[in-house]
Amino acid sequence: MLRISNPANTLDVIKKHRFTLCKKYGQNFLIDAHVLDKIIASADIGDSDIVIEIGPGIGSLTQLLAAKAKKVIAVEIDKLLIPILNETLSEYKNVEIVNKDILKTDLKKLIEAYSGSGKIKVVANLPYYITTAIVMKLLEEKHPLDSITVMVQKEVARRMQALPGSKDYGAMSLAVAYYSEASLVAVISPNCFIPKPKVESAVIKLDIKEKKGYKTINEALLFKIIRASFNQRRKTLQNGLINSAELGFDKARIAQALKNTGLNPAIRGEALDLDAFIRLADELAIQA
Ligand code: SAM
Repeated sequence: MLRISNPANTLDVIKKHRFTLCKKYGQNFLIDAHVLDKIIASADIGDSDIVIEIGPGIGSLTQLLAAKAKKVIAVEIDKLLIPILNETLSEYKNVEIVNKDILKTDLKKLIEAYSGSGKIKVVANLPYYITTAIVMKLLEEKHPLDSITVMVQKEVARRMQALPGSKDYGAMSLAVAYYSEASLVAVISPNCFIPKPKVESAVIKLDIKEKKGYKTINEALLFKIIRASFNQRRKTLQNGLINSAELGFDKARIAQALKNTGLNPAIRGEALDLDAFIRLADELAIQA
């Protein structure tokens, strides 16, 4: 079968099917074989792995995944891409194409059918307009995933790995640190895509199984506190928490929790590491 992954073959497939790339869906297709190989190598796909691909496009990455994995479930929102995928992937009997919006897909149901039959790995060149929402969904829904290897904007990769005190540090950095071990695989030039995105990209791998095993009394409360702390970055942590409608704690209670955790009321959320957020959340959980 023709390997799509170069500019000429990508354009051939697009022209043959009279497909118009859709900006609204973040369609920037990968056209660089080295980058595709790098994604596959870093995702470490073996023949017993179940792969979930988000946004297969015309199938450039899917072909390579299907050649290595036991099963590939490819979730694509654009119905116009389905007949193209049926053709470019016709050789592979281990691919299931699901024509759905990933944010509205019941992943639990999709994954359940394969539980116990292999490691489940997410691999994707993500649509950039919803990168954060997808990554947060994958992490927060706590599926039995082994790893998530994804192409994202370089900026997002930076946020995922940011440490306290840096301008990139935020709710995303803390969620990634809580659920996984992140490693940067490569920075990717806009030239590797059709059409070229305006920003540089990066491949990042989140190893879920390697997560540090943080424990907290009330996980939902921890993430509400984290969100409230970064919603108003310029405010002190104390004011951010008091102003949060989602939390609903009064001033005295928050002041007491900060005191009991040894945190200065004038501190900003961006200065707290994950351990400090957990101590604060556990203090508020105990008071509740
Ligand atoms: N994997 C292909 C590649 O690397 O060439 C395409 C990647 S392109 C950056 C993103 C893909 O995600 C597009 O095919 C787009 O139609 C699809 N997509 C966009 N929004 C989606 C959503 N909400 N759910 C599922 N797929 C989506």
